[in-house]
Amino acid sequence: MEKVISTIENQYGDVIPSSVLFQEDGLLRLWEINCYSSLHLNLGNCYCENHLPSYDYPVSTNDVIQRFGSDALDGFDAPSDAQRIFDAFGIEAEELETALRVAYQIGANPLPALRKKTNAPVVFAEEPERLTFPEEEPGTTIFVVNGRGEISVVTVEGRQEAANISTEPDLDDPVGMPELAIPAQLD
Ligand SMILES: [Zn+2]
Repeated sequence: MEKVISTIENQYGDVIPSSVLFQEDGLLRLWEINCYSSLHLNLGNCYCENHLPSYDYPVSTNDVIQRFGSDALDGFDAPSDAQRIFDAFGIEAEELETALRVAYQIGANPLPALRKKTNAPVVFAEEPERLTFPEEEPGTTIFVVNGRGEISVVTVEGRQEAANISTEPDLDDPVGMPELAIPAQLD
């Protein structure tokens, strides 16, 4: 799906899109005119030799709401994990996972830096599907990173049994390093 957010009139009096919001691989992207003199877009006589007539880039849900209002999101799919990662860290999931993997390869703990970028809990676990978060409010988003640098998005569901308490995340360094990870306590 794509949605024209704004339009302008070109030299011939045609109304053309100037901003288009679309979703690709689960990520919201904004297409915008870069050159308002572009010959390609019938806006002027610029051949756009050293720049692009238009470009598109990923945008956070919040940026879309701030710039265009929440109505702009009507009709789009609910935020995917990729979108929630981008919304939290401002980095595309694939790039972030590469950075996380490299950090672990060189023995650096990337989680403190991630925590500075978001208010959401960021925890280390090899098996995110086995974690429970009894202290967190239902609906809370939690980012779980494993030793291969993979990041998964967990939404806390309903009330959770205290008996299943696993890793209550310790936000101090050096938690977040694979060798220091607290394994999930399963009964
Ligand atoms: Zn141009």
